Amino acid sequence: MVADFNTCDDEGYLEWTDRHRTGFVINTFRPPARAYLMLHTGSCRHITTPDHQFSSASWTGNEYAKVCAARRAGILAWSMEQFGVEPSRCQQCRSVAAREGVLKGHRPHAAAAGSDLPSREI
Ligand SMILES: [Zn+2]
Repeated sequence: MVADFNTCDDEGYLEWTDRHRTGFVINTFRPPARAYLMLHTGSCRHITTPDHQFSSASWTGNEYAKVCAARRAGILAWSMEQFGVEPSRCQQCRSVAAREGVLKGHRPHAAAAGSDLPSREI
């Protein structure tokens, strides 16, 4: 199921991302437009942690809208249906997802703390 936070509903949007940290979010213009479709995971800090507060509707207000889905297949289908293209992938999410194993279906945080740090010869 695709949840469309196209209106100014930051509260609903942040609640959704909190409940679906392994879900997927497309950040797009408001109204959604083919020119900007960026796919993030639900836990990406780009779309959940404000660097600066724009307004009381920072996430879903202003010029941006969010489209959310619990499954990657769902959100890709939405993008194909609406615009006939797949969204771009956020580079930040890709590295986080790979590290936490989110995209492989592994439990997040399964790796020991610090195991992703480069090993260093002493
Ligand atoms: Zn991201």
